[in-house]
Amino acid sequence: MKKDDCIFCKIAAGEIPSGTLYEDEDFRVILDRGPATKGHALILPKNHFEDLYEIDEETLKKVAVLSKKMVEKMTKALKCDGFNVVQNNKEAAGQTVPHYHLHLIPRYKNDGAHILWNPGDITDEEIQELVKIIKE
Ligand code: 5GP
Ligand code: ZN
Repeated sequence: MKKDDCIFCKIAAGEIPSGTLYEDEDFRVILDRGPATKGHALILPKNHFEDLYEIDEETLKKVAVLSKKMVEKMTKALKCDGFNVVQNNKEAAGQTVPHYHLHLIPRYKNDGAHILWNPGDITDEEIQELVKIIKE
């Protein structure tokens, strides 16, 4: 299912040209237009799901398998030293395009990209409290 005013639906359908690295009946993998590092790519499902809350399990499993294939292929081609696989959900988490997508970000030693977080502090009591809240 497509959404009329969604740019990633249009890109995934091939209606807007993109640097396509891979395509099959369910997905298009494209180069990001604002890359964090050289080779930053996005896996786009061809169907419109806004985010992780909406995507169905069958498609999500295929995303996981495809991400592994792409990371292996791109690591060889780009000779990168590692990868971040990132996926943002909702504005509060930095999602700017409301069509599910998985970021594949090649990492190079000392590339200076800012993707990870600064570790905070947590007490044992806070850990226990969170475990209780989330598990229940
Ligand atoms: P988000 O912030 O939603 O997780 O990621 C959206 C990503 O899509 C950003 O990295 C941004 O650079 C990329 N992007 C936004 N518009 C376009 C576009 O029209 N073409 C391509 N190739 N990437 C886009
Ligand atoms: Zn869409």
